[in-house]
Amino acid sequence: MQYISTRGGAPQLGFSDVTLEGLASDGGLYLPEVWPRLDKGQIRRLRGVDYPALASEILHQFNGDDIPRDTLGRLTAAAYSSFDHSAIAPLKQLDTSLYVMELFHGPTLAFKDFALQFLGQLFNYLLSQRGETCTIIGATSGDTGSAAIQAVRGLAAVTLYMLHPDGKVSDVQRRQMTTVLDKNIHNLAVDGTFDDCQNLVKAMFNDKSFRARHNLTAVNSINWARIAAQVVYYFRAALELGAPDQAVNFSVPTGNFGNVLAGYVAKQMGLPINKLIIGSNSNDILTRFFESGKMEQRGVSPTLSPSMDIQISSNFERYLFELLGRDSDEICNLMQKFADTGRFEIDPEHMTEAKQLFAAHRLSDGETSKEISRVYRETGEVMDPHSVIGVAAARIHGEPGVPTVVLGTAHPAKFADAVQAATGERVALPLAAAHIMEGKEQLMKVANSLETIQTIISANRASG
Ligand SMILES: *Cc1c(COP(=O)(O)O)cnc(C)c1O
Repeated sequence: MQYISTRGGAPQLGFSDVTLEGLASDGGLYLPEVWPRLDKGQIRRLRGVDYPALASEILHQFNGDDIPRDTLGRLTAAAYSSFDHSAIAPLKQLDTSLYVMELFHGPTLAFKDFALQFLGQLFNYLLSQRGETCTIIGATSGDTGSAAIQAVRGLAAVTLYMLHPDGKVSDVQRRQMTTVLDKNIHNLAVDGTFDDCQNLVKAMFNDKSFRARHNLTAVNSINWARIAAQVVYYFRAALELGAPDQAVNFSVPTGNFGNVLAGYVAKQMGLPINKLIIGSNSNDILTRFFESGKMEQRGVSPTLSPSMDIQISSNFERYLFELLGRDSDEICNLMQKFADTGRFEIDPEHMTEAKQLFAAHRLSDGETSKEISRVYRETGEVMDPHSVIGVAAARIHGEPGVPTVVLGTAHPAKFADAVQAATGERVALPLAAAHIMEGKEQLMKVANSLETIQTIISANRASG
């Protein structure tokens, strides 16, 4: 299987190289040259297959001949062994034709574990095969850091440094990172702000000789392998509800367009998906786009659903490439325009096509709170402020007779204050996560100094 860049100026690569490369060298995003397709019989045979085996089947479609079949099975088994629910992605019924798929039973209680747990295993395997090692460096204001740490802890070929602003993340967030004591994990508490941390990371990536010496890698959400791993739970949910003989809608709380893009990919592979419903908070660039055909960047304001507080949906470029008939020149034009002016526009014919598949709905914080409280009253389910936006969007755009699956992206205990304000209930952390409040912490306090941090990284490497 070969991969091409949305911008048309990067070499074609196979699955392994695309995984290790991340962003294409022309600034574009990789996607398959041709979508793999499953016919109805092939989809039917996936019914009742357990989650890791289903993941192996689906990921094999994107892998081609790069990674041996049994190795892929071993990687998916390892990736999903850390989940605390035996179904991995349990599907719950909320109403006659409304369901929620709980994607928060991984080690950091949010859906990003589905992609990152697999990506960690994949990185480790590919690097070991090549006799290479890499250093992942990241900055976090909270949640991404713990997901990345849990993904690569204990892996021999990967060393990770995670920078966070000292004293400026919550106790739970810090402990989710610092109670991981594996030798390849280094938490650096920087005497500064989150922006300082990000600037330090950028400076290390811009230092070409440092970057090459340590084989620096980022864990960003545009990596194709992350999208591929997310396609699996769309299949799981639709198979449960009768696919390929029954069509299904999905409603997805969206920020970077990464999660919902995986739904689009599942449809291209032959899964009968009727509608993909996008839920956004007041940072609603995507909802405005589907209403008006105009993509227009505005400032970000903080909301009850912080993981969706984004200004640019980076994965949207892959869908746009598809919508515009895979015209790389046009993508380059639009992306240049967006970088220069913060906006671009799509013609009405293409918008008509886009709206046949996608619908979008936004919720203010007030509406989000009310929806948490309503769902609790009517079903007894306690939902987090991200997932519940999917429920509200599904109620607006769902169709009678077609089951709609809301993707539940975070455990309510991760956003316990907002949930308590809406329901009066305090949600406890699941047992497997609760130990972090007592465990021993390991972190190094460092000055806001590029030289100090680079010295630490180089010294560790020399002694390790
Ligand atoms: C990251 C995240 C999202 C948004 O996912 P995208 O792939 O960026 O659209 C939604 N909810 C939660 C809880 C998240 O962590």
